[in-house]
This record gives sequence, C-alpha cells and structure tokens, in this order.
Amino acid sequence: MRFLPVSAAELAERGTPIPDVVLVTGDAYVDHPSFGAALIGRLVEAEGWSVAVVARPDPDDVEAFRLCGRPRLAFLATAGALDSMVCSYTANRKPRSEDDYAPGGRPELCLRGDGTIGPGKAGRAQARPDRALIAYVGKCREAFKGVPVIVGGLEASLRRLSHYDYRSDTVRRSILLDSKADLLVYGMGETAIVEILRRLAAGEPVSAIRGVRGTVWRSARRPDMADAVELPAHEGVAADKPSFAASFRTQYRNTDPHSARPLLEPCAQGWAVQEPPAFPVGGADLDRLYELPYARQAHPLYDAFGGVPALEEVRFSLVSSRGCFGACAFCSLAFHQGRIVTARRLASLLREAAVLARLPGFKGNIHDVGGPTANFRGPACPKMAREGACVDRRCLAPKPCPRLEPDHGDYLEVLRALRRVPGVKKVFVRSGLRFDYLMLDPDDSFFRELLEHHVSGRLKVAPEHVSDAVLSLMGKPKRAVYDAFSRRFAVLAREAGKPQQLVPYFISAHPGAGLKEAVELAESLRDIGFMPEQVQDFYPTPGTLSTAMYWTGIDPLSGKPVYVARGARERSMQRALLQYSKPENHKLVREALREAGRPDLIGRGPHCLVP
Ligand code: SF4
Repeated sequence: MRFLPVSAAELAERGTPIPDVVLVTGDAYVDHPSFGAALIGRLVEAEGWSVAVVARPDPDDVEAFRLCGRPRLAFLATAGALDSMVCSYTANRKPRSEDDYAPGGRPELCLRGDGTIGPGKAGRAQARPDRALIAYVGKCREAFKGVPVIVGGLEASLRRLSHYDYRSDTVRRSILLDSKADLLVYGMGETAIVEILRRLAAGEPVSAIRGVRGTVWRSARRPDMADAVELPAHEGVAADKPSFAASFRTQYRNTDPHSARPLLEPCAQGWAVQEPPAFPVGGADLDRLYELPYARQAHPLYDAFGGVPALEEVRFSLVSSRGCFGACAFCSLAFHQGRIVTARRLASLLREAAVLARLPGFKGNIHDVGGPTANFRGPACPKMAREGACVDRRCLAPKPCPRLEPDHGDYLEVLRALRRVPGVKKVFVRSGLRFDYLMLDPDDSFFRELLEHHVSGRLKVAPEHVSDAVLSLMGKPKRAVYDAFSRRFAVLAREAGKPQQLVPYFISAHPGAGLKEAVELAESLRDIGFMPEQVQDFYPTPGTLSTAMYWTGIDPLSGKPVYVARGARERSMQRALLQYSKPENHKLVREALREAGRPDLIGRGPHCLVP
C-alpha cells in the first residue's frame, strides 16, 4: 500500500504536481486509522482530491511548509493526536523527555526544510511548538499567501472558545482568533471537512463558508443569528472565575448535535462563532473510514530512528466505536467526540481483522477491540438514539438513569466472531471498560467471557478515587459499586479457572480531593493490599468540567464551591500518599498525615501507613 505523498517529487510522480490539499500535522506521519491526520488524509483522497502530508514540520523553517508545494484548495492543520501542551509538558508543568508521536520518540526531531528528519533550525528540545496551531497557521501563511488555512484536531476542538491554559495559568481566547486561521473544525471533523472542501472546490471563498456544523468562524461584528446563545465576553471570563464557570456551563449544555444552539463569544479582536456540533458518523460511513487503504505503518522516513512508538499501541488493534456517554468530568470526550455512541458493524470489523492477520509481524493477537469506552457499542437508550443525550443529566452517575438500557450482546457477538477469524489466536480488550455499566447488565455472559478469553491476566479499570464526594464531582459511581464489581470479578475469575488480577487506576489531587480524601484513598489501598505502580496527577487539560473546577473553584453544573489542591506541595503529598510504602515517600507521607490530623497512621501498628 502506498503512503500519501510527502514531497513535490512524489506528487509529480503520481501525476498531481499541484495538491488540492496539504495536511500539516504535529505528529510523525503514521498511515493508520488511529491517527487522525491519516484518517482525514485518506478520506480526502477517497473523495477525489489529491492530498499531501507535511508531518511534524520544523516550526522555524518555512521551507518545510513548502515541501509539497502550494495547495490548490487549502491547508488543513492539526497539532497532532494530542493537545500540544499535554504532549510536551507533564502534569507538573515539566517538559517531557519523550514524545511517542515523534520519530523514535525523540521530541527534538522534525521534518526539515530539505525534506530530511533531524533537529530543527533553532535546535528546539521540543520540535512540536507550544500551542502548535498558532505557529503552524503562521508558517502556512508565510509559505503561500492567500491559501485558506483550516485548523482541526483535538487542540482546535478543546481550545475553540475561551479556555483555561494550565501552562500559563491563564484563560486564553479561542485559538481560532489567536492563530487567525480561516476556519476551525471541532469534533471528529470528517463531515465538516468534506463539506468545506466541496464548497472551496466549487469556487466559494473561505470567508463565505458559514453554517457548517462542527465549525467555528471569525466575525468582525456580531452575526445576526436568531437562535444563537451569546456567551460572556472573553475578557470578562478571563478576569472573573464565576463568569468563566457560567460560560463553561453554557458550552457544556450545547455539545449535543440534536439540541445545541450556535454560540457567540465576543472578544476585543472580534467574535468567535460556534456552529452546532456535527452529527456523529456511524454504521456504513464509519466502516468506510476505517477500511480506507491505509499502509498501516509509519512512513519510511523514520526507519533510521526506529519508527514511531505510538504505532505499537494500536498496530494490531481495532476501533469498534466512537463517542462515550460515561461523561467523566475529567475527560474531554463530551467536547470532542460527544456522548452519542456509534459503532462499526460486525462485517467491517471482521474484514479489518482479516487484514491484520495478513500483516507482517502479526502473531495472532488482536491487542484491543474498543473505543473511548470499550463496552459502549450503541446509544445509552432509545431516547439518545432519537433525540440525543439529555442536557441536564448524566446516564450513569451519580445514579444510573432509569431509562438506560445496559446491553453487551452486540459487543459479545463481535468478540466471539473475531475469535474465529483464521489466523487470530487471541482477542484482547485493553480499552477502558465502564465497570458500573457492566454491573448493570442482568446477563453476565459478557463479564464471564471477558475474563475467560479477553484479559491477559490483569484487568485495568478506573475507579479513580474512593471518596464518594470526589467521585460525585468526577461523574463516577460511588465506591460501593466498585467494591461490588471487585467481588464479582473475584468470583467469576475463580469460576473461569483463570488467575486474573484487578488493577485499579486512581487520580490524585482531582478537584474536591483534599488531604483527608487522599488519606481515605491510601487507607483503602492498604486494606486491599494494592500499591499502584504509577499515579496519575490530575492534569487540567482544556475543555473538561474538572478543569473548569480547578480554575474557578466552582462546580459549573451546581454552582457550588469546590476545594482545589493547587500548590505543588499538596499535590506531591497526595501523590505520595497513593504510594505510601515507597521509602522515598515516607517523609512526605508523615507530613501529610500530620497535616490531615491522622498521626495515628504513623508507627508500627498493623493499620499504620508509614513507620
Ligand atoms: S434518558 Fe437517561 S440514559 Fe437516555 S440519554 Fe438521557 S440520561 Fe442518558
């Protein structure tokens, strides 16, 4: 399978010396459907346009942006699979030493102006620039004046209106205004991008392209849109936390394509106008996207560096669904893919499994069959399918909605069929499962077969915390639900005759969690005899409910104040409590226990956490 062209010479070889579209991405080019840039590139190609890829260009060298020539219709730019700040900095604001989406995982490597891979002109330690879209749009404009530049991907989605930026600890305006791109595409983007390209190809100027679902556009004055909701001005939400929380709440309530209205956000530099979200792609259209002719490899440009690490996670995995009605507060899915779950059909998954089975290096194991939440394969209830997700309630928490229809029948059918594909020995499920949803299903066939066939000895699940107050803010079920799941897991694993371990994941320092709650979590770990190998500190990424709580100290949905562990010291103490048995953490844990009023947990007694 051929890759999409990455140079003017390759375009000329294919008889399309002038590309219709040039895709600019902050990631190395991996031609696999799990990489958004490849998926959009293949879709654009399948729609009949010629497309070239400028992957991970040197942000200090305009020649890198000229490698494929001047696009006839547009540049499509994305920061990559992740937000560039999340990709480059840890939860403690330290630069990351690795980038799984870079050649060989080396963050300093980029595509240089001469078409080779190496450190860039300015010798940056991170070749993906901070808030990459701003830099990429500027360089696209410098490379070829007058070409429309359309931004998309996760960074664009989550920064599409005023948003909290953790690195600078400020509220920034829409990245559309900061970057001066012509249009911003949010969400999964496929339908919006095809419509935009069709209109550009028909000769419509980009400044006239309005009314496309899933886009944000700029306007010098307030547009006349009768059904639109006007948000508070950017300058107001940047200066006033209650106003930010109120604006976030309005945005949160306008994320479903069935009910959302256009949003207007004024700013000193103009208006950001958000059209309602696009309807999710599902069924045959989703099948088609994942069965486009991907090479399923990293581009040979990176061979000398050992490829691209992010591919290894997904090379032999299948995407079976999109969307998530879990609505965890710390997750940005509601703002990106949305709550309506759509799924690929069985026949398509079987065809892709057959393709995987023929790939070099396939050892018979499909590593994952999942999506944002593996065991969601359809809408939560008939109402969601018909009218979209409810604006004022979540499907699963704090209590399951009475209209929810838990059902694993379809997913089980998929897994059973995949096990029978010639060449496939094992089919694993590694995407996260919502254990509370699993427990609601009166038929436990899926749970049983999961443990019998689809777990490789360790099942990772994410209760995230044990304090019911924190869990409620997170949008997760109460602790008792996890405890019941854990007991059921033990029984079914024993009955399956398989030694299986349950590996729970927790987040430290989430809004609502103080030292008291962190001690409660440490004690529960002591009681179950489990010490996490890794601890995830809460990371205030743009576009989540939890981030709005972190910044404002307010739960935007209830308007109530929320405690936030903000300082580095308290965050470190909460993290240390989760790994209290590590000798290097003992001093900090003792301090935390004294501060929390729990010196009784210091000593040699059986209940003590540290000596
Ligand atoms: S009715 Fe209940 S299950 Fe259905 S979308 Fe609304 S909250 Fe979710």
